[in-house]
Amino acid sequence: MIQHSDGEPGGDFAQAPRDGGRPAGAGGAFDGHWQRVRDKLRQQLGNRTFERWIESVSLESADGERVVLAAPTRFLRDWVAPRYGDRIRALWRAEIPSVKTVEFVVRSALAAGDGRARPSPAGGAAVAALDGEFGTGLDEKYGFETFVVGKPNEFAHAAALKVSEADDVPFNPFYIHGGVGLGKTHLMHAIGLRARALRPERRVIYLSAERFMYEFIRALRFESVMGFKERVRSVDLLLIDDVQFIGGKDSTQEEFFHTFNALVTDRKQIVVSGDRLPGDLEYMEERMRSRLGSGLAAEVHATSYELRLGILQARVERMGKESQVPARVLEFLAHKITGSVRELEGALTSLVAHATLRGREITLDSCQDILRDKLRTAGRRVTIEEIQNRVADYYSIRVSEMSSARRAQVVVRPRHVAMYLAKELTSRSLPEIGRRFGNRDHTTVLHAVRRIAGLREKDAQMAEDVEFLKRMLER
Ligand code: ADP
Ligand code: MG
Repeated sequence: MIQHSDGEPGGDFAQAPRDGGRPAGAGGAFDGHWQRVRDKLRQQLGNRTFERWIESVSLESADGERVVLAAPTRFLRDWVAPRYGDRIRALWRAEIPSVKTVEFVVRSALAAGDGRARPSPAGGAAVAALDGEFGTGLDEKYGFETFVVGKPNEFAHAAALKVSEADDVPFNPFYIHGGVGLGKTHLMHAIGLRARALRPERRVIYLSAERFMYEFIRALRFESVMGFKERVRSVDLLLIDDVQFIGGKDSTQEEFFHTFNALVTDRKQIVVSGDRLPGDLEYMEERMRSRLGSGLAAEVHATSYELRLGILQARVERMGKESQVPARVLEFLAHKITGSVRELEGALTSLVAHATLRGREITLDSCQDILRDKLRTAGRRVTIEEIQNRVADYYSIRVSEMSSARRAQVVVRPRHVAMYLAKELTSRSLPEIGRRFGNRDHTTVLHAVRRIAGLREKDAQMAEDVEFLKRMLER
């Protein structure tokens, strides 16, 4: 089992100390084992990855069954534990077979000294949306091979293919826009993967706009802005996802604009996605909007029944479950779940998982049974107002506190819960949600969402509150 737990609060952005190789004495007799585990990790992961992520992790304590490792920042812990936790545990067990758990705590060398919580410039939560290493950031599973083409996306798909296969720069930038869960991110990865497959020497970087902000702000903080610029500007193909999140951050917009111009001048391809047309990015500076609109814009439209069915069929085939999911069930899903492709995939996944776990056949009946909640919400849209009213009512606070600046815990918690539910139950973007809660920044919303999601796991009362509110709202 890999466990996470919080040590020091704050310190998310504390710079990683470079002395992780020297356990703080806590491990004692286990220092030698830890050193060997580290050596193997370095061998297996390579120097670069090791230095970037593992180097600063230290041995907090150990006994024959339980090993506790400390990461200097929460960010690092959240990065390392899910990605390398299993591997680290396996290596420990190779050293000491009786080891059962490896836990990760946050132990900030800097914060521990003066106890001051460090401010987090991007709202620590922006980091949560990291999409991959600052290597290419590309995810192999989002290739063109798995992208199903239909009327609603055929133009965007054709243009994406062209961009990825062209030797020159056909349109700069190529701008993909459309609603949530309709395949924008998928297409961006596909472009990057295809471009690299055709010409492996091309340098490709995929970054969510949030990651771009995070990297940039971090560079400002640690005075390596030049390094950041060099890295970003040395690419042949830059993919920036969800650009609407860059709006409002002035220095980031500025940097984005200059990066953009430098790349265009060098005839490097830029692909950008957003949830709306460039002209409608109201928080974006005018010059940036017109820059973004100066190439080709392609929309991924809401799905059609045929496309949804096609996606489900392809998906089932890839899962190797064709024989187990009757055609009628797929048709039923394609009819009923008309929102995003993500919802559609989610429904199919839970259907197959339930059936497998219970050893039950998938029929129309069991499908309706299992997906009752999903089908209900798919049929009815909840509004942010309803959520705010319900939540305020539930916690006995005024609805106006949802938008107020008050920071007392009695109103902050309900406000966070409402933001969380707005994200879960509506298709509104984070900036939109932020605006409806007294013009708050989208990073505040992201922080709230993460916070409540975390509490739901740890705190039974919170889990129950959220469950109850969801039920009320979904009825
Ligand atoms: P967006 O970035 O527009 O919010 P994503 O690209 O993340 O949406 O798509 C959400 C999910 O739906 C992903 O798992 C993606 O692979 C899948 N998806 C979307 N469109 C298609 C499609 N045309 N064919 C196959 N899968 C798709
Ligand atoms: Mg996306």
